[in-house]
Amino acid sequence: MARRREQGKAVLCLGIESTAHTFGASVASSRGEILSDIREVYRPPLGSGIHPREAAQHHSKIAPKVVCEALRAAGVRPQDLDAVAYSKGPGLGPVLRVGATVARAIAANFSKPLVPIHHAIAHIEIGLLTTGLKDPLVVLVSGGHTTVAFFSKGKWRVFGETEDITLGNLLDAFGREAGIPHPAGPNIEELASKGRRLIELPYIVKGNDVSYSGLLTAAIKRISDSRLPDLCYSLQEVAFSMMVEVSERAIAQLEHNELLLTGGVSANRRLREMFAKMMADRGGESRAVDPKYSGDCGAQIAWTGALAFSSGVSEPLGDSEVLPRWRFDEVEIPWRRG
Ligand code: AMP
Ligand code: MG
Repeated sequence: MARRREQGKAVLCLGIESTAHTFGASVASSRGEILSDIREVYRPPLGSGIHPREAAQHHSKIAPKVVCEALRAAGVRPQDLDAVAYSKGPGLGPVLRVGATVARAIAANFSKPLVPIHHAIAHIEIGLLTTGLKDPLVVLVSGGHTTVAFFSKGKWRVFGETEDITLGNLLDAFGREAGIPHPAGPNIEELASKGRRLIELPYIVKGNDVSYSGLLTAAIKRISDSRLPDLCYSLQEVAFSMMVEVSERAIAQLEHNELLLTGGVSANRRLREMFAKMMADRGGESRAVDPKYSGDCGAQIAWTGALAFSSGVSEPLGDSEVLPRWRFDEVEIPWRRG
């Protein structure tokens, strides 16, 4: 346990992810080895979004199997773990509580420290691990976040963000209206690759922030009179260009020459290409998280848990309530200097 940390040995951490559609479990070491990554995804019926209570029921049902498989695949017994990390927030309350309860039960039963992890920080850390970038500007685009961030004085700071819905929400909500199965992002990407015509849609950047709700409304209105591949292509071009503009401004002002793309939407090849071009034009480089770990997964929590625990982060079992609205610029990052 803590002795292993004091002796400078690698720490083994179980990570439990449960903020939204995915229940995931993974074991990672503080040397950056992801020893397992098991997940089950709740899929809402066609045309509807995530129903928090149903997602929570799904996660409760599959949690024991997912955790046992993650330990088995890693070849680790619960008693060999040094810590148990879980997503404390932000996310959907009922779903977060499933992950927290599972983590608390394992920690209590095997007398292991409990490590609270901010889900967005974990998207950043798994991105840094898999790209090898040290001090990039971060563009986090997922179902829960659309944020441009940089590290300074012990915390991740927000340079710009969405003023309303996230980029993931935009794609999934558009998909629901267009009859595209959830999660819509990958299907929209496929359809967009067959698009030929750019349909005019509102491009809304306000200072360093983006706003996607007007774009969503306008795109939905065009479903009935447009070819779906053209509309998907146009939606991607407009929504992604808005993020590139804000990120380019951050790069210019903060003088970074590296950029990390992370979060579920960063799996999108067109988005990666647009960021790669913008950074290459400025003499810098854009890298994206390994697509295996771009969407929500236990690995992001296990790895960030190993980092956090190695620098002394843990919480008493009694304090382990979830924080559905936790902002990531409130979180102290003792394991990173800057
Ligand atoms: P996360 O919350 O990090 O798990 O990210 C989930 C979001 O990523 C959902 O909104 C998905 O639609 C979106 N997503 C996943 N793959 C892709 C893709 N290839 N292109 C665009 N969006 C994607
Ligand atoms: Mg996420």
